[in-house]
Amino acid sequence: MIKKIETALKRYTARTGATLQRPRAVMFDMDGILFDSMPGHCKAWKQVCDENGIEAEADEFYAYEGRTGASTIDTLIRRQFGRPATEAEIKDLYARKCVIFKSLGEPSVIPGASKACEAAINGGALCILVTGSGQRSNLDRLEREYPGVFPQEQRITAFDVKRGKPDPEPYLIGMAKGGAEPCCAIGVDNAPLGVMSSSRAGAFTIGVRTGPLPEGALLEAGADIEVDSMYDCAEIITTLTGR
Ligand code: MG
Repeated sequence: MIKKIETALKRYTARTGATLQRPRAVMFDMDGILFDSMPGHCKAWKQVCDENGIEAEADEFYAYEGRTGASTIDTLIRRQFGRPATEAEIKDLYARKCVIFKSLGEPSVIPGASKACEAAINGGALCILVTGSGQRSNLDRLEREYPGVFPQEQRITAFDVKRGKPDPEPYLIGMAKGGAEPCCAIGVDNAPLGVMSSSRAGAFTIGVRTGPLPEGALLEAGADIEVDSMYDCAEIITTLTGR
């Protein structure tokens, strides 16, 4: 792992021109990083589409992961009906999607994710949530599963952004909240659009393949390092905060 981290640090410097300093903020995505919620989200989106005459494949929603619900709904409506989504459609379809998602039961916590948060805190960094989600059931549950790790002022959600991932905006707001320059910040995301957002924001970016993506997909999206578990992510954070 040490070799892999050294390569990643070189990659980070080559693309940003900066050297990673001791991290002050570690920014965590939520779905697929803290909660194993992506299968449920895909199922819920597919059902919303079926109910509204929108053709879609359940798996295509992995590719949209990280975007806000409004952006996903607009894409689906444009594709099916050749026009932008109305405000009412965005509101109604998203509300319906949240109801279906909640009815599927609570998603499990991703193994190793608590360790990664602990590693950040032990290393003297703030944990910041950076999610495109507006799913209240998951946001409310954070405090129960990750007690004290993500207080309200350390959360960036769908309610805080205009553009959302893959735009760098959410991770830039995350750094501002964490009081960290890009060279003192780490982004942790499992989706290509999320990795793109963190990478463009200038943070050292850890791509964690917790879903059905092919190996290398997150490096291609701009991650400095790609691993396939949150345990590995915890090890990287421990190393980077302990240097
Ligand atoms: Mg995610």
